[in-house]
Amino acid sequence: MLSEKMQKAINDQINAEMWSSYLYLSMSAYFENEGLTGFASWMRVQAEEENMHAMKFFDYVNGRSGRVKLQPIAEVQTEWKDTLDAFKDTLEHEQKVTGMINNLMSIAIDEKDFATQSFLKWFIDEQVEEEATVNEILDQLNLVNASGHGLFMIDKDMKGRSLPASGAE
Ligand code: MG
Repeated sequence: MLSEKMQKAINDQINAEMWSSYLYLSMSAYFENEGLTGFASWMRVQAEEENMHAMKFFDYVNGRSGRVKLQPIAEVQTEWKDTLDAFKDTLEHEQKVTGMINNLMSIAIDEKDFATQSFLKWFIDEQVEEEATVNEILDQLNLVNASGHGLFMIDKDMKGRSLPASGAE
């Protein structure tokens, strides 16, 4: 059984993952409007991944006989200055999520909740990957000053991302 505190923190995380999904979907809409269909598609996949993260937590709470309580999803930004601006926000957001996952792990450790520690390990690894991926895209954008032919080429590359078949793995 999950403790009240652990359950509340995971319910907050479900909301944060849903908010992340909403944020990236908003970025996808922004990129569509900018004619950057590769970035739009990448963000749409990213949004679906965040939704799967939320569902991983959702299933975990239910699997531990806990109670999922969904909360309202706060408004997200709809406009960005440019591609670089959107990806800087993405990195900042992922760093924040990493902090939240670390905080969940701290609670699980404090409470000697070994099952939750084991479950969270996947998310700890996932955040390392998320930050590395976004950093790599930021490096590429900086290399071409996020404009012109370089941006066009990166946009083409971004189209290649698809959802992993096995769900959130
Ligand atoms: Mg996530």
